[in-house]
Formats: sequence, structure tokens, C-alpha cells
Amino acid sequence: MKPELLADEVEKFSADAPGPTIAIVGGVHGNERTGIAVVRKLRRKFESGELELAAGALILALGNLLAMKRQTRGSMPGANLNACFSKAVLTGAGDGYEERRARELARVFETVQLGIDLHATNSLSEPFAVVQRLPTAADLRVLRLLDFERGISDPSWIFAGEAVTLDEFFAARGSGICYETGCADATSKADAVVAEMIAVMADGGWIRGTSAHRFTPRRKEWYLLRESIMVTARGFEFAPGVGEYNFQRIRAKQLIGHHGDEPLRVKDDALLVFPKPAHLRFVGQQAGYLAEPYARI
Ligand SMILES: [Zn+2]
Repeated sequence: MKPELLADEVEKFSADAPGPTIAIVGGVHGNERTGIAVVRKLRRKFESGELELAAGALILALGNLLAMKRQTRGSMPGANLNACFSKAVLTGAGDGYEERRARELARVFETVQLGIDLHATNSLSEPFAVVQRLPTAADLRVLRLLDFERGISDPSWIFAGEAVTLDEFFAARGSGICYETGCADATSKADAVVAEMIAVMADGGWIRGTSAHRFTPRRKEWYLLRESIMVTARGFEFAPGVGEYNFQRIRAKQLIGHHGDEPLRVKDDALLVFPKPAHLRFVGQQAGYLAEPYARI
């Protein structure tokens, strides 16, 4: 099947029968190789006819092309395409590569009803997913076919105070899922993630010619972001043994770090998520977040 080129490295496959428009995106962070490999593998399968779309449309997209070329997270230190899907940027603020690419992608993703944005973590982490709101039935149908055990929602907008990420952009229009597939410099999981994407599409009835629908839906432990740990003018240092991996369990009253010489203790039991290593901690930004259990979903 020959795709339509919507933008550089953004291809759309369309079926004759009506159905939803789905987007699968990799490379929003240029050093996260699994998502890039997944998008390229899926593209080859649809182009060769190994997979055929039965209904609707599928957009396969790579995000930050400049960062991919440089094998870095953004096109330069601190640049982050996944913080550029804010109202301000999408209505014209900023003229860097990431801002311009975000506006280009937002235009082609405007009609997407299910968007899966594939990421990988820079620090040690099991696979997980993030969905901004409490997962809807449509979100759950997809999430249960993905091979991870714990996920996070941010219904109070603790993460950035407003919609800034690509999955949040998708969620405002339908389902939006950020799927963190594992460690950034490995691609060993690419084939497994390709199979999960095929399972999602087969489950929706959007593809034919596959027997890949062999996944047993799995329930997940779901967590809510509760608060952020900011790096203040006095800095922030994690206490010894804290902040080295994602989903670290923190006990009530435990010391988790210091702003200068002022200790920071956690009030109630929590999980420490997305802890930033020292070289990624900047004043005025988050050093990590605390999450609390929500439900098994
Ligand atoms: Zn990422």
C-alpha cells in the first residue's frame, strides 16, 4: 500500500472503509531508538503489503528529525519537542526547530482519534505508560494490550500545569497514550512493541491479514501524580539511595532529599517517579514527582 506523505517522515495509510485515524509516533526524543525502529518496521510492513489496513487511516510519524540525526534528546541541550504542544507554541510562540516541528505535527495530527507516542527512559525503568486523564474505556482497551505493569495519570496537571506533551494533544481529541518502552539506548524490544501495536490495531478491527492478536489483556496498577519536587534557587539533592530509579517506593516521613540544608520529607507513602539525574536538574524545573496508588484497572 502506498502512503500519502503528510510531512517529512510522516506517512498516512488509508483504507477504503471508514474508521478512525490512528497515529503511532516515534523519535519525539531523538535518542530513544525503540520508537524510531517500531515506526520504521511498521512502515515497511504496510508498504510491502504484509499488513493491510481494513478501516480508517494510520499515520506513522517520526518526531524530532534533527535530534534523531544528532542522536540526542532534542536538537540542542534543553530543547524538548514533547514540551512544545502547548497552546502558546501551537499558536505561534517560539521559532526554534522543536516549536516549528510541533506546529507542523499538530496540523497533521488534528484529526487523530487514537495517538500512541513511543518513548524510552534515560534512567533505569521498567516499561510504563502515561495517560493525562483517568483512563477512559477507549484508553483501557489499548492499554491492556501493552506489555507493562504500572501506569500513571495526571488529572490535576501536576506535570506541567497545562497540556504540553504530544499524548496530551492526542488526549484532547480522543485517546492519547505515552508509552515508555524501556531504556533509551536499546532496540531489543522493538519487535515486541511492533507486535503490541499490531495487536492494538487488530483488536480495533483496523487491520487484516494478521494472526498477531494473541495477547491476553492484562490489568495494570495505576497511579496518580500527587506533587512535584522542584529544584529551587537552593538547588535540590536526593538523599543517598533515593532518586536512582523510577517507581521507587517512599515511606511516610522518609527523607528524600535537601533544598540546600533544608530536609524534604514525604508526608504519606508515595512512589517517586521520573527522578532526574543531577545533570538534568535545573532551577525552576522538577527534580521528580511523587505519585500515589489509584486503582487496579
Ligand atoms: Zn522520550
